[in-house]
Amino acid sequence: MQYRRFGKTEEKVSVLGFGCMRFPVTDKENDASIDEERSIAMIRNAIDTGVNYLDTAFFYHKGMSEKVVGKAIKDGYREKIFLATKLPLWNVEKEEDFDTLLNTQLEKLDVDYIDFYLLHAVNKDSWAQKVIPFGILDKMRKAKSEGKIRHIGFSFHDDLPTFKKVVDEFEDCEFCQIQFSYIDTDYQAGIEGLQYAAERDLGIVIMEPLQGGALATPAQPVLDAIGSRNPVKFALDYIWNFPEVSLLLSGMSNEQQVKDNLVYAAQSKANALTDEEKAVYKKAKEVHDKLDIIPCRDCRYCLPCPHGVEIPKVFKTFNEGVANANRRLILEIYPDIEANANQCQKCGECEAKCPQHIEIINKLKAVRNAL
Ligand code: SF4
Ligand code: SF4
Repeated sequence: MQYRRFGKTEEKVSVLGFGCMRFPVTDKENDASIDEERSIAMIRNAIDTGVNYLDTAFFYHKGMSEKVVGKAIKDGYREKIFLATKLPLWNVEKEEDFDTLLNTQLEKLDVDYIDFYLLHAVNKDSWAQKVIPFGILDKMRKAKSEGKIRHIGFSFHDDLPTFKKVVDEFEDCEFCQIQFSYIDTDYQAGIEGLQYAAERDLGIVIMEPLQGGALATPAQPVLDAIGSRNPVKFALDYIWNFPEVSLLLSGMSNEQQVKDNLVYAAQSKANALTDEEKAVYKKAKEVHDKLDIIPCRDCRYCLPCPHGVEIPKVFKTFNEGVANANRRLILEIYPDIEANANQCQKCGECEAKCPQHIEIINKLKAVRNAL
């Protein structure tokens, strides 16, 4: 394993962090049904091989992720890792909710303190309507002074100006978590945001390095652009090449992914890409950006839909079919999706929850038309 400095916290973190949002499940229709035995074994294997950063959140796996992580770090593993979890801002309706939620998380994780505590998925609305009016930053500072939290930061999903505003106003912020990949260089915080945070010596965590798995099996035109390179290693190497990045998170769902990522992390390097390699990334992005792909990351934040629309599944099917011009695939799979795009009643509940700000209702209509 390789380690990097985590900004002004001066901690040393492994370049690969274990994202705890995509554990294997025993019932694929039920995100809460984590296969505990496998997940705990995967986490411990990663820690035994040097991973020292676990990232979970209040509602991952319908609230079960923190419980499983809590079990995984028993038997001496707690002392070997940094534990990161997040305050669900959408559950904060009044000032006191901060303490209630944090205490619940400490209980679920069965720990006395959290190393890295993040405001979850900050955007301009949650910043203006929750963080500022409810004095959440002071609440975080107080929890830090009481020893319940060691370091404070935020994860982010909005545009670049909002990112800079949050970094500026959250003066004692120690780290941030942004989505980034060779496709997302100019999306949300992007490269400019990454550098803005680095100039302020924030620790930088990258999430969605594979766009929720999509870059592991990219569209055929992208595959053609990257040639014989392994698409996962190709995507991760792009991120590790930035010396500003402290670590990237991978939401690993099976043993092989853990094994592969550990190898890639061991081989990772900063400032190592040649101009020739950089040109390949540029080409892959150009080709990707011409495709009509819905930027869904399969995070499932939008679920459940009260009318049973399996939003990420519908988008994934569309993306795989359209991006590869595979009409046969669409025709074969689409009728099998039980709750399909036609069931949308346009209630809008899902759109407010989507961190990618996808106009889900319109996109479902577009999918329907395309099909
Ligand atoms: S807008 Fe459509 S897809 Fe979204 S929650 Fe409502 S019914 Fe479900
Ligand atoms: S539509 Fe948005 S919230 Fe739903 S899975 Fe996709 S990215 Fe996540």
